[in-house]
Amino acid sequence: MTYKELYEFGKIKLAEAGIAEAALDARLLLEYICHTDRNELIVHAERERSDMEEQFYRVLIEKRASRIPLQHITGEQEFMGLCFKVNQHTLIPRQDTEILVEEALHRLGDGMRILDMCTGSGCILLSLLKYSNECEGIGIDISEKALAVARENAERLQLDAVFLEGDLFSPLEGFVSERTTDRLFDMIVSNPPYIETAVIETLMPEVRDHEPAAALDGREDGLYFYRRIIAQAPLHMRKGAHLLFEIGCGQGDMVMSLMREADFEQVGLFQDYAGLNRVVCGTKR
Ligand code: GLN
Repeated sequence: MTYKELYEFGKIKLAEAGIAEAALDARLLLEYICHTDRNELIVHAERERSDMEEQFYRVLIEKRASRIPLQHITGEQEFMGLCFKVNQHTLIPRQDTEILVEEALHRLGDGMRILDMCTGSGCILLSLLKYSNECEGIGIDISEKALAVARENAERLQLDAVFLEGDLFSPLEGFVSERTTDRLFDMIVSNPPYIETAVIETLMPEVRDHEPAAALDGREDGLYFYRRIIAQAPLHMRKGAHLLFEIGCGQGDMVMSLMREADFEQVGLFQDYAGLNRVVCGTKR
C-alpha cells in the first residue's frame, strides 16, 4: 500500500472507533512508523511502503482504536518545543499546561531555585530549566515510577534536575542541595491532581482508563492538594517568591481565595489558549 492508502485506511478505522481526531492520529502514527514527516507524506503520497510497515501500522491503528492514547503508543509527547518520554505512570503533558510554564518564565530570573510539586513526567520543571539560566530545579512526586520517567527526560534533554520521592514537601526535610545551603525557593510550580473524584469516571476512555488516577484525583471537591500545598508552601518560600498552579477551569475563585487567606499577595488568574481559566499565581508577602 502507498502512504495515501495507509493513511485513508487508518483515518476510516479511527473515525469508526469514535476517535475525535481520527485524521490527525492516523497521520501521526503513519509518520511514526515510517520515520517521516507530514511533508514527505504529501509530496510522496503515491510511494509504496513495505509489507512490514503496513502490518505494523495496522497493529498500531488497532491499538489506538481501542482507546489507548496516541502518546502511549509512540511513547512521547511534545511540550514547550521539547520531546518528553511518557508512559502510563505519568500524566501526558497537556498543551494547556504550557500557559503555566509561560507565566512561570515571566517571573523567573537567572540562578533561581525552583520547586515543581507533583512533577510527574518532569515536563514543567525541565521546560523551566531549559529556558532559563543557572536555575536549580527540584521536582517532587509521590510516585517512584513517575520519577523514573522524569529522570529519563532530564537525561535525554541533558538538564540537571533533582527528583525526590515523597508526599508533597516531606522529602525536603532530609534533602541537602549540592549547590547551596539555602533551603528556600524563589518559585514553586505545581500541576497537582485536581479532578473531582466523581468526575473521573466521566472522562474520555483515554484518560480514565490509561492515565494514572493518582495524577488526576483531587479528592471530593478537587481542591485537596491545593489546600495542602498552599498551607505548607510559605514555609519553603523566600519573601517575594512565586507560587503558580495549574487549575481546573472552574477552580479559579476557590484557589485564589485559598491563596489570599494564606496571605499571598498579587494573586492573579490566567487563561489558556482556549480562553479557560488555567493558572493561578501569587507572591509571598
Ligand atoms: N488537565 C488534566 C485533564 O483534564 C488534569 C490534570 C490534573 O489533574 N492535574 O485531564
